[in-house]
Amino acid sequence: MQSISSNHPAPALIGMEHADLVTLCHNAGVKPVHADRLNAWVFRLGVTDIHDIPELPQNLYNYLSTHVGQLKPVSVANRMADDGTRKILLRMPDGKEVETVLIPGPGRLTQCISTQVGCAIGCRFCLTATAGLTRNLSAAEMVSQVMLARKESKEEIRNLVLMGMGEPLHNYDEVAKFVRIVTDPMGFAFSPRRVTLSTSGLVPAIYRMIEDELPCNLAVSLNATTDEIRSSIMPVNTRYPIAELMRAVRDYIAAKNRKRVLIEYVMLKDVNDSIDDADRLCELLRGLGCTVNLLPFNPFPGSGYQRPDDATVSEFHAHLSKAGLVAVVRESKGDEISAACGQLKTEVVERRKRVSV
Ligand code: SF4
Repeated sequence: MQSISSNHPAPALIGMEHADLVTLCHNAGVKPVHADRLNAWVFRLGVTDIHDIPELPQNLYNYLSTHVGQLKPVSVANRMADDGTRKILLRMPDGKEVETVLIPGPGRLTQCISTQVGCAIGCRFCLTATAGLTRNLSAAEMVSQVMLARKESKEEIRNLVLMGMGEPLHNYDEVAKFVRIVTDPMGFAFSPRRVTLSTSGLVPAIYRMIEDELPCNLAVSLNATTDEIRSSIMPVNTRYPIAELMRAVRDYIAAKNRKRVLIEYVMLKDVNDSIDDADRLCELLRGLGCTVNLLPFNPFPGSGYQRPDDATVSEFHAHLSKAGLVAVVRESKGDEISAACGQLKTEVVERRKRVSV
């Protein structure tokens, strides 16, 4: 661990999983039991200033104040839509901005977490993709999104979905750390069933999830049923085509006796919304324990795609249901605050540009 006075920033306490806290206690010369206290105070109670944590051994205070840093992102924009969806734009200490979204639902509040600043995957229907990748977020920066949202929200956050800016599996190590931190029963204590990681289909990283027994659910952003269409809207498909991806998903389900995965399907008018597409989707998902989320596209300026009309969405949905698939149409919440991924950040940047002209 580096000293806080070195040129490198000291690691933030909120980016440490239990094993790191135990090492920290060992280095400070105090009993490992204090790792449990740090875990509870920092993650369960949200106390990030060590001076606010009572009754730690003096050695530990001294060690923490010289070897551990603090991460204090600030909220630079915060907007609530009529449906209660709230978007928060956070600025990290290096000036980079990411967003997190709080989505209300019946009896539950779900938070959508960003895992990168921008994204390198280049899905053609995605606003975040237009800016490319700036950098990965650290586990601490992901945890800070949860802490900040928890402060700003009166309601308890029940679910976490890693579906914000970025491809989580492109930042595997930090995302895995984040998942372990939020599901630690001594800390945040989110149930692994209530944490969902969504991927565009990075197959080798799905196998890493299996190997590491990462305590979370898997969602796959499928969005097409032929390689031709999928590659045209998701370039990642040329590297990991549908058959390979679906094999990985089936292996994932089989490996850990997991019951279900989530399949996301963004519906784009005249691209992937025909009854033939629905038929092929049924075939692809036959026998797979899954829930299909149908997401009618939420257009943004310059996107080049359109939302299918309601009748097409209903017909597609009915076709899947008739074939025995569990399918749900999910409307994009918070339309009037641009709640699709990356849109608040883009909007704020555009507004700034207009102001500075
Ligand atoms: S949809 Fe997700 S993976 Fe694809 S470009 Fe956007 S943020 Fe990246």
